[in-house]
Amino acid sequence: SSKQVQEERKQPIKVSIRIRPLLKKEQGQETIVKSENKKFVVFEQSTQILKQEFDRVFDDQSLQVEIYNNLNECIKQAFDGFNGTILAYGQTGSGKTYTMFGSDWESQMNFSINHQATYCADLKSDISFAGIIPRVIFGLFDNLPKNFYIYCSFLQIYNEKIYDLLQDHKVPVQLNLHESKLDGIYVENLTEYAVNNYHDCLTLMKRGERNRIVRQTTMNLKSSRSHTIFQLIIETNKVDKHGVLFKSKLNLCDLAGSEKINKLEVLSNDHFVELKNINQSLTTLGKVIQNLSQNNKNKQKLPIPYRESKLTRLLQDSLGGNTMTHIIVNIAPNIYNIDETVSSLKFAQRAK
Ligand code: ADP
Ligand code: MG
Repeated sequence: SSKQVQEERKQPIKVSIRIRPLLKKEQGQETIVKSENKKFVVFEQSTQILKQEFDRVFDDQSLQVEIYNNLNECIKQAFDGFNGTILAYGQTGSGKTYTMFGSDWESQMNFSINHQATYCADLKSDISFAGIIPRVIFGLFDNLPKNFYIYCSFLQIYNEKIYDLLQDHKVPVQLNLHESKLDGIYVENLTEYAVNNYHDCLTLMKRGERNRIVRQTTMNLKSSRSHTIFQLIIETNKVDKHGVLFKSKLNLCDLAGSEKINKLEVLSNDHFVELKNINQSLTTLGKVIQNLSQNNKNKQKLPIPYRESKLTRLLQDSLGGNTMTHIIVNIAPNIYNIDETVSSLKFAQRAK
């Protein structure tokens, strides 16, 4: 069966680090983490080098296009029927959304929707602000083979509940996870749009972003505390040489902030449960990735605790094994964030 064939294509989980530049408001502060040979992380003051070699360490000068080029193999793989997941991990303010979506998205999008040609051309220029998601969409449509179709969904996991970002209800309906023999794990009633071109797909992305912002006020949902997953499904009516229909999924995830509960912060009960759930799902993600990595290297197979969080359950068939899994750990460069930076780097080390 094709499963067995695919089993042989085990891929290591890739882990990259991205150090963001100092922000305007941080001007004058010292940068204390640097990249060495594009593979290692160095702490300046202590001249301490983290022994772990990563797939790539991007420094504060790196461009969006370089981040994308490092993982654009996911497009070819998607057309070959393999699932993939790209995750942006890191504390709030470390650059996850910048990496996944791009900067100043709202104002730039208003511009780009009216000037699609300019925007597309822009994407090909190295200095474009656009992040991974618009670039992946562009790459998919730019290379789309005949008889391939693309569908898109956009969802948010908040406090272990799943919401559709492509339904415009102010107070969104909570959706449930289900499993079927045919489709594997899926979100019941999640909107899935057939998209014909780059422009339509970007418009959906923008709509989801808008819904996320609206709900931030109507439901008092803090977006830094939710995971958002932009899903692209690639299908073709052709069958492969084993008689199996091509269908693959690409999950592009902007994860909730990884910061610890601040003990000094006065927390209401709801607020506390919320933070606990976020820590729980990121801890589970860490365990899942770590065990998958270990299982790649060792004979003895560890169990993978997919079921311990909605996020990992949802991504179950798109993490590890024969899928392309790429984690980008975003970190801030200044001393003020050192504790969270160290903790994010530990997560990255465990994932390797
Ligand atoms: P997060 O999503 O992790 O909370 P953001 O992506 O919102 O963080 O980034 C925080 C701030 O830093 C934003 O103002 C963003 O534009 C800026 N930023 C992050 N990464 C970069 C980068 N590589 N280059 C320039 N600005 C960046
Ligand atoms: Mg963000």
